[in-house]
Amino acid sequence: MMKLDMLPILSGASDELHFDFSFLPEKDGLIATVYSDVDFSDEIVVTGYVKNMAGYMVLSAEVRVPYNTMCARCAEPVSGVLEISFEKDIATSDDVSEDNDDYVIIEDKKLDVLLPVEEQIMLEMPSKTLCKEDCRGLCCKCGKNLNEGDCSCEKHEVDPRLAILKTLLK
Ligand SMILES: [Zn+2]
Ligand SMILES: [Zn+2]
Repeated sequence: MMKLDMLPILSGASDELHFDFSFLPEKDGLIATVYSDVDFSDEIVVTGYVKNMAGYMVLSAEVRVPYNTMCARCAEPVSGVLEISFEKDIATSDDVSEDNDDYVIIEDKKLDVLLPVEEQIMLEMPSKTLCKEDCRGLCCKCGKNLNEGDCSCEKHEVDPRLAILKTLLK
């Protein structure tokens, strides 16, 4: 259930509607395209509610995004769970224009909950993931994973003053 029937709220029969659903990002969808090096093979779980608060409506949702990818520095596999919670104002297409990004728009008395959820995932999902904050990455010469220890290559970060000294001594 990703399109929420808003009739109970629009008609005033109810002040609050809850929803929960899970989904897999579409293979050629926006998320899979933008995060092409991320594997979203576990379902994304969404729970939340829509509330009518004396004339203005909000959507509140919590999203759990399990993911598998590889470290942007050392290429080791990394998996994690992105936890998001967000709120967004809701309006009918009579009240605001459809390209107003500040609102989630109700169309035909239905609210597409998936759309704002996907947008929020794109806002909060980092474009690069590291296995740990201080990952040392791979040696650019021999390819050794420097988290496992130093390699015997000459370090590429040579102090420029030392480099001048070296040439002078030759
Ligand atoms: Zn790493
Ligand atoms: Zn090396």
